[in-house]
Amino acid sequence: MATRPISIAVDGYSSCGKSTLARDVARRLGYLYLDTGAMYRAVALALLRSGLSLTELGSNEEKLARFLEINKVDVVQGGDGEAQVLLNGNVVNVELRSLEVSRIASLVSSWPLVRRTLQAVQKAIGERKGVVMDGRDIGTVVMPHAELKIFVVADFPVRVQRRRDELRGRGIEANDEEVAEDLRQRDFVDTHRAADPLRRAPDARLLDTSQLTREQQCEVVCNWVSEIVEKDP
Ligand code: C5P
Repeated sequence: MATRPISIAVDGYSSCGKSTLARDVARRLGYLYLDTGAMYRAVALALLRSGLSLTELGSNEEKLARFLEINKVDVVQGGDGEAQVLLNGNVVNVELRSLEVSRIASLVSSWPLVRRTLQAVQKAIGERKGVVMDGRDIGTVVMPHAELKIFVVADFPVRVQRRRDELRGRGIEANDEEVAEDLRQRDFVDTHRAADPLRRAPDARLLDTSQLTREQQCEVVCNWVSEIVEKDP
């Protein structure tokens, strides 16, 4: 088992199983886990609560800067080793998962000032070793020096099923076509935005989770970690 703590960047499309994998690996290795998507969702939630116009805020950097100063997104270490995202000092986990928040998060994450603000916090956390971070730009922008970079993919039908199951688990019924359309749109936005579009870092290892169980995925990554540490103890 690996001993020297390293930094692990996990990127990929929505519903490929990134967060579950990143969390499992962090637990197994005793690392800190940060879900960077939750930070973009926290900004989206603050925006929804504020009642401010999206178009106005998105087109006025001064207003947006003030908004981000007033609506502080912080990260603290929770008791379970997982980084906890706070909005103005409060835990907002449940609210972050709504469909409305997902929709707005996709939009605010394309605003460069939002990205720079959240990335500064993420980069500071990425300075420490023993961290697993998942998102869309971790291996390319937030932790370009991560010792292990993983780009997670899964077949489209598998992603649709995972997303539908996830929604169902939260009491939201959606048919396959609706879910597929939502995923197609998110993929398009994630890969086409001007600021830090989702890309596989040249040195990222590809992990196709389509045919792997949760345990197998975790095993693959932990073996990669051991390999890296053994090579350079
Ligand atoms: O991963 P999750 O769906 O929670 O991310 C919420 C939103 O934040 C998505 O629209 C995603 O594109 C964006 N995001 C991002 N950069 C990250 C993490 C998430 O742009 N590092």
